[in-house]
Amino acid sequence: MDERNMSHLTEKSEETAYHPTPIDPEKVAELQASAPSEHLIALVAATFQALGDPTRLKILYALSKNFCCVRDLAIFVGASESAVSHQLRRLKDRHLVTQRREGTTIYYSLHNSHLAVLFREAEYHADHVYQNLPDHQSS
Ligand SMILES: [Zn+2]
Repeated sequence: MDERNMSHLTEKSEETAYHPTPIDPEKVAELQASAPSEHLIALVAATFQALGDPTRLKILYALSKNFCCVRDLAIFVGASESAVSHQLRRLKDRHLVTQRREGTTIYYSLHNSHLAVLFREAEYHADHVYQNLPDHQSS
């Protein structure tokens, strides 16, 4: 990296420390008053982080349709049962899936119905990007 790039980086970090006057103070005040707490934002970030993996998304897709055991999830996802178990543990730690035992089989399902909606909306969004579809008319 040459000296010009270095000085650019230095300028940039000074810029982020600077507190500018808002263009629309009312809008900024409204945003500050209604924003979710830092704790909630951290949980949302952790949720998106847990969603940010193709295998975990396939698992969640399956579970958004119906509860499922590890064997059937592994067949659907096209991964080993141990790999799917590992991902299910991560999803359970992040409160995205729950499990229940029936005899010797453990069934997994989504933690709540919001996740199915979240998944569907993310899929719609991706479809808009993929097919270059315009936004819907807001009413
Ligand atoms: Zn749409």
